[in-house]
Amino acid sequence: MKIDILASGSAGNCIALTANGKTILIDAGVAKTKIEKRLLEAGISAPDIIGIFITHAHADHVKGLPLAAKYIIPVYATDGEWKSIREPEDHDGLVRPGNTVMSSSDGWEVAAFKTYHDSYEPVGYTANCDDYKVSICLDTGKVDDDMLEAMAGSHAIIIEANHDESMVEQNEQYPSSVKARILSDIGHLSNEQTAAALSQLVRGRGERIYLTHLSSNNNMPELARMTAVSALRRCGFTEGKHYYLEVL
Ligand SMILES: [Zn+2]
Ligand SMILES: [Zn+2]
Repeated sequence: MKIDILASGSAGNCIALTANGKTILIDAGVAKTKIEKRLLEAGISAPDIIGIFITHAHADHVKGLPLAAKYIIPVYATDGEWKSIREPEDHDGLVRPGNTVMSSSDGWEVAAFKTYHDSYEPVGYTANCDDYKVSICLDTGKVDDDMLEAMAGSHAIIIEANHDESMVEQNEQYPSSVKARILSDIGHLSNEQTAAALSQLVRGRGERIYLTHLSSNNNMPELARMTAVSALRRCGFTEGKHYYLEVL
C-alpha cells in the first residue's frame, strides 16, 4: 500500500492511499488545482481514484471537493456532514459509523468509526486492501475504546498530533474561547493524547506511523515526534526497529 500525505495541517488535509492500481482519498481539504498538482507529483492519475472519504465538513477537509465533480469520483460522508457539504439529494455515498462504507471489486474495503469533534457527525476511517490495514484518525478531541478497537491491528496509522497543551495555554494570540475549544473533548488531539493512543495501537510489527494536522502555532514537529517516541519507548518499542514514524 502506497501512502501519500498530499496535504496536512489547518491549511488543508488530503491523504491518498494506493493499491492494486486504484487510489482512495481521505478528505480533499486543499484547492482542486493543488490536489491535482500533488497527485501528479505522487504519480497518481485522477481517473484511478475510486472514492473520496470525508471525515467532516470543515473547510480544511472539503475545500477541494470540486475535484470529485471534475473526474466523477464518488464522495462518501455521514448524513450529518452532508448537511454542510451540499444538498442531501446529491448524496453519492452515505457513511454510517461502525459500518463498512465501500467494498470494491479491486479488493478495497473501507469502514468508518465515530470521532469527537465540533462538527455534526465526524468519523475516522479504516481502509483495507490485500490484507494491509490503514487507519486514519484526524480531527478528534479524544480517542475512546471503540476507536481503538476499530483501529486495532493496523499496519499504518495516520493520526493527528495537533498541539502541545502548554503551548495552547500560553498562546497569547488566542482568546480563551478558542483555547477551550482546541483543548475540549470535541477539539483536537494533543501530542500526549496521540502518544497514549499509539501506545495502545502499536505492537512493534513494523507499523508505519504518520503524525499529521500539526498546528503551526501550537506545536513543533520535533516535540510531536519526541512525545510519541518516548511513550512507545516506555512500551519497549524502538523507532526504526519496531515501527517507523514520520511527522508531516
Ligand atoms: Zn475540523
Ligand atoms: Zn482539520
